[in-house]
Amino acid sequence: MYDVVIVGAGVMGSATAYWLSRAGKRVALLEQFRPAHVQASSADESRTIRYQYRGQAAYTRMVAGAVELWKEFDRRSGTNYYRETGTLTLQTRPDFEPLRDGYQGLCDLGYEPRWLKAQDIRREFPQFANVDSGYIMEGVGGYIAAGPATRALADAAAEQGADVCTGAEVVALNESGGRVTSVATSDGRTFEGEVVVVTAGPWTARLLPELPVRVQPTAARLHYLRPADPAAYESPRLTPFSVMDTQFYGFPVHWRGCVKVADDMIGEPFEPDRDREHEDPVALAKLRDFLGRHMPGLRHAEVIYSKTCTYSMTPDSDFIIDRVPNLDNALVAAGFSGHGFKFGILIGQIMADLATRGATQWDLGRFRLDRDPSAVSQHW
Ligand SMILES: Cc1cc2nc3c(=O)[nH]c(=O)nc-3n(C[C@H](O)[C@H](O)[C@H](O)COP(=O)(O)OP(=O)(O)OC[C@H]3O[C@@H](n4cnc5c(N)ncnc54)[C@H](O)[C@@H]3O)c2cc1C
Repeated sequence: MYDVVIVGAGVMGSATAYWLSRAGKRVALLEQFRPAHVQASSADESRTIRYQYRGQAAYTRMVAGAVELWKEFDRRSGTNYYRETGTLTLQTRPDFEPLRDGYQGLCDLGYEPRWLKAQDIRREFPQFANVDSGYIMEGVGGYIAAGPATRALADAAAEQGADVCTGAEVVALNESGGRVTSVATSDGRTFEGEVVVVTAGPWTARLLPELPVRVQPTAARLHYLRPADPAAYESPRLTPFSVMDTQFYGFPVHWRGCVKVADDMIGEPFEPDRDREHEDPVALAKLRDFLGRHMPGLRHAEVIYSKTCTYSMTPDSDFIIDRVPNLDNALVAAGFSGHGFKFGILIGQIMADLATRGATQWDLGRFRLDRDPSAVSQHW
């Protein structure tokens, strides 16, 4: 009998196991493959940590809370998964409303984003062309080594006494009397916990098909490119950036001498078990078009690695953090919709609090399952 059984060792499940085991709880973390495997949303080398949330102050406050926890995790483990490089947000036309909202929202919260006109961008960030304006957050936000940080959380949980079971595919949540009595894996094992936490990412609907807010896996393509002149694309000459109205974003050189550039569009529905390292000529053509227009120095850069990742989209792109309907001892954290990684260590702490105390200091109102989500075409 465990205090808590967690299903899924992406960043959300691994962080939940980390906080629970740190508090001395008996924890099983069940993962069908291994933490941050290639099909998981928490895989690969980088995720942006940006504070701008189009004026959604509640999200920005959560980012700030999460950054403190990422820093503490790095300090305790002697690592530097979180790189505080600042972030750059650009637009190719004046007055792109989401960019304005983000800038204003940061100012309202007392941050000091520095507005950049076209000539400032040409001088300070010559990597870009045909951009109108934007702003930089200096020394606030940056990026995190996603896969390595996820694995480190799971490893730390194991060191703190959690049973981290890889190759453990959960096939059923056995129920009786409105409670999950045990969790069954495909190899015939069962795990019993006082509480069960489901953090199954894009696979959530398989285990919980009746959730009132739908989690739809969608395709999101990313590319690693090797610049001819890598020094020009290293931090601090380049920070994580977004050319917001194009939906393309990227990172300075951080892996195998490569920058990463990706398309943030909500793509087509995508089965999470599918092969994802296949070629995608349409996505590649779109990338080259963006580079040709806005980052001409990378136009001919060699693509070293390219992959389709999955967003777990909710209709409104707000997360799901709630009790599972009709199951008193089951919690779900899912639907992180293409912007959840940065919060991972905080979500883990929230889930640990919900599992042990039934409460958290954070306002989870917008993440409840009884909301009526309106559909958006772009996540927050
Ligand atoms: C291309 C891309 C770019 C992104 N960029 C950013 C960014 O810049 N900033 C940001 O903050 N966020 C970003 N995100 C979003 C972020 O990466 C995700 O929100 C986050 O990683 C979700 O983590 P998770 O733990 O919910 O899911 P996952 O990492 O997918 O973990 C779920 C785990 O559950 C396991 N599992 C599922 N079902 C079962 C089962 N039945 N039994 C056992 N195990 C099971 C899976 O194998 C998997 O390991 C991006 C996502 C993608 C795809």
